[in-house]
Amino acid sequence: MKTSIQIGTVMGIPIKIHISFLLVLVLFPVIFSMDPVFGFADVEYAPLRYALAMILTILLFSCVLLHELGHSWIARSYGIGIRNITLILLGGIAAMEDIPRDPRKELRISIAGPLVSLAIGVLSYLVYLVFHSISQAPMLLHITHLIHSLAYFNLVLFGFNLIPAFPMDGGRMLRAWYASRMPYLHATRKAVHIGKMFAVAMGVFGLFVSLWLILIAIFIYIGASEEEKYAEVSVTLEGIKVRNLMTRDIAYVPDNISISELLRLMFEKKHLGYPVVDQFTGNIVGIVTFTDIKNVPMNEHDTVLVRDVMTTDVISISEDADAMDALKMLSSHNIGRLLVQDNGRVVGIVSRTDLMRSIEVLGYSER
Ligand code: ZN
Repeated sequence: MKTSIQIGTVMGIPIKIHISFLLVLVLFPVIFSMDPVFGFADVEYAPLRYALAMILTILLFSCVLLHELGHSWIARSYGIGIRNITLILLGGIAAMEDIPRDPRKELRISIAGPLVSLAIGVLSYLVYLVFHSISQAPMLLHITHLIHSLAYFNLVLFGFNLIPAFPMDGGRMLRAWYASRMPYLHATRKAVHIGKMFAVAMGVFGLFVSLWLILIAIFIYIGASEEEKYAEVSVTLEGIKVRNLMTRDIAYVPDNISISELLRLMFEKKHLGYPVVDQFTGNIVGIVTFTDIKNVPMNEHDTVLVRDVMTTDVISISEDADAMDALKMLSSHNIGRLLVQDNGRVVGIVSRTDLMRSIEVLGYSER
């Protein structure tokens, strides 16, 4: 299911909004229209009240976007690709292709976002002071109030993100600090541990204060666990190349055999994925795996051919590539197998199962 839609591109980065963000567009204007301090509860004319609340919401999330662009800007200067920036219920996420292992780089990328929020906060506050001193005309008063709220929320964004709850910005900075003193995996585990403690504390505190905090706490807890897993996998696969893991004796199947014939081959060879070749030219035209055929009804196994069910976007990787890159490619394309090439020649096949098995074995032997 498609859960995000793209609304534009900034600095060449696709900007997306997640469906959960639609709730923000309803919830925040309602909250801001009722809040007497930072919102517009005292604006009597209702349409104006809601319009101002809506404008504040949009400006606020534009600032969240700028915060993420801050992270992205620095990450890109280190050659890290940004897949997209997605606005979600709880803020924004810049999906980076990689998280740098170098503590100094991670530190700079992590602090860039909060610094953007701080800059916007301070700047808005100065503008507020100027406006405030110029005029007390009613319309300008509303705008002054809007800028004041924007300043406040950006400063909150700055402060909140600095909480050392990994994987929030402050937590990443903490990991970077640890990582400059101990092995990367240990540093991650320490930061994850602290992040989880913060998450639990925040969740309990949230029970009495706000549902929002509980949501953020859950988000941090899950995020911390995932990052720990990611660090474990990337450390385990360090220095391992695709060629060390790939299956070399690949069997090809022609595109015109039936599913029954393919199943027979799978049982016989004990392989569940095959490159498919054109029956006439011998060129590779696809990849077929057990996943592709498991939904074909039994009574059609003799009539449906491999070419009808195979995956045609064959993605390949060089045998000299890092195993971690293979894993990233598999997950970003959501596929099970990659063809391994050497100078345009297919030399093997590497599957998610191959990678998982080595992670288990290597991870086990490390302990
Ligand atoms: Zn951030």
